[in-house]
Amino acid sequence: MAEFTWSYSSLKQYQNCPRQYHEIRVLKNYTVKESEAMIYGKEVHKALEEYVRDGVELAKNYQRFKSSVDALVNVPGKKLVEYEMALNYRKEPCDFKDPNRWVRGIADLVIIDGDYAFVVDYKTGSNRYPDPKQLRLMALMLFTHFPEIQKIKAGLLFVMKNSFLTEEYLRQDMDKSWKMFEVPLKRLENSYDNDTWTPNPTPLCGWCPVKNCEFHKEK
Ligand code: SF4
Repeated sequence: MAEFTWSYSSLKQYQNCPRQYHEIRVLKNYTVKESEAMIYGKEVHKALEEYVRDGVELAKNYQRFKSSVDALVNVPGKKLVEYEMALNYRKEPCDFKDPNRWVRGIADLVIIDGDYAFVVDYKTGSNRYPDPKQLRLMALMLFTHFPEIQKIKAGLLFVMKNSFLTEEYLRQDMDKSWKMFEVPLKRLENSYDNDTWTPNPTPLCGWCPVKNCEFHKEK
């Protein structure tokens, strides 16, 4: 059985196109060129991180995010910013850089208040097709890292839209939540075991970095 590490984004990339995943993450034949939207997203994340953690005033062009972030700052509890979490193959907590890590992720903001936690992921993109499944993985890692937490409210904060999509998770449902990742993880494992990486062409192939693929638009 192949051993591999994963994150929510790597698993998603695999589900979108196994061939792209293989070329970029395994063979490292291509890198994803940062788009303007990605660069902007990183800058906003950094500004919000510094604002929440250190009180660094938001730049003028980011003041529009202040009210949504202030609502989070005012939530009572211990705040952890850009909090790194990893689990090993036995789903036990481990260091983010542990060579035996299995899955890892970074929470933009965690607020812990007794047995209750609030975890937030900032989004600078559109809220048209929200993907809350990443919150479920974040909640699973939080429950594992903090045994005292029994309930988690998790949210995607679309800062450009001032909209908040939230979900709630209970410790007692952890097994059910892990089951939701089983099928794609099994497929990924099979791909490693059999070295099969099937392309999944879509209209987005034109923007794919894997230029040697027969489905790339320049072919
Ligand atoms: S061009 Fe399309 S099918 Fe080929 S690797 Fe990229 S996303 Fe997958």
